[in-house]
Amino acid sequence: MYENSKFASHLQKRMRIFNKQSELVSLLDAISSEGTSIGFVPTMGALHQGHLSLLETALKQNNIVVISIFVNPTQFNNAEDLAKYPRTLEKDVEKIATISNDIIVYAPSVEDIYKGNTVSQHFDFDGIENQMEGKFRPGHFDGVGTIVKRLFEIIKPTNAYFGEKDFQQLQIVKKLVSKYKIPVNIISCPIFRETNGLAMSSRNERLSAEERKEATIIYKTILEAKKLFGTKSANEVTKWVEKAFAKQKRFELEYFQIADEATLLPCIRKNKNKNYRIFIAVFVNKIRLIDTISVN
Ligand code: AMP
Repeated sequence: MYENSKFASHLQKRMRIFNKQSELVSLLDAISSEGTSIGFVPTMGALHQGHLSLLETALKQNNIVVISIFVNPTQFNNAEDLAKYPRTLEKDVEKIATISNDIIVYAPSVEDIYKGNTVSQHFDFDGIENQMEGKFRPGHFDGVGTIVKRLFEIIKPTNAYFGEKDFQQLQIVKKLVSKYKIPVNIISCPIFRETNGLAMSSRNERLSAEERKEATIIYKTILEAKKLFGTKSANEVTKWVEKAFAKQKRFELEYFQIADEATLLPCIRKNKNKNYRIFIAVFVNKIRLIDTISVN
């Protein structure tokens, strides 16, 4: 169980929190048998309603639910982003307890996962790793593939839950599972938003109250872009978005792309048989926020 824990003793008594994979695996071996389903929700912590909605879906569909809380260093290409990523384990456990005390928490150290060799495996995800997040965050999807594969090997889930908020990651995980023939169902879950439309994100914690309010422009812009895409080309919509952000002082557009959902390649000419999706990444005072919306 969790060592040197600062958790209130009532929480520690009620919840099962592990920081060692050997102990987690022993428990899972002891409580699961033929036909027991394990639902798994991987996260980097600083939990919000979006994460909790994944847990709620997992609870409905499985006998056992495991959440991992691990800020994975190999998927960060920016040292400052990694250093400043919020780490709030105690609060996270309290939030999980509001849903169920039966959820098993795996909050490993870097050493427990990487055993002294904190590097990524290199993956070929048929090119989808080179688009958008992959282009602007070199090495990011090698880090994601490495950690997700390792967590799947440890937990051996029946079902694993991923948010559409990170749609490209969701597609990468589906590729990983099919390429390595990992026996797990990947379940995609809708984006949870603040009341003003801003997609919930752990990084929102780093925004000032004013930035958080104004960041609603990201969602408003992609809603408007979706409407425009009804009559205009992807190129025209992109130009419109770039112009709209050029006028913004607080917000810096990193990319806006309308892409084929399956290949994530940019839409050059609309094809009725394809499903398209809008993707956006914006900096607010060095904090990077992403959002996405289906246009079909
Ligand atoms: P993270 O902790 O950011 O790595 O996210 C863990 C999981 O929660 C990922 O599958 C995310 O896509 C998902 N997630 C993050 N934010 C949201 C949100 N606002 N709505 C739904 N799922 C989310």
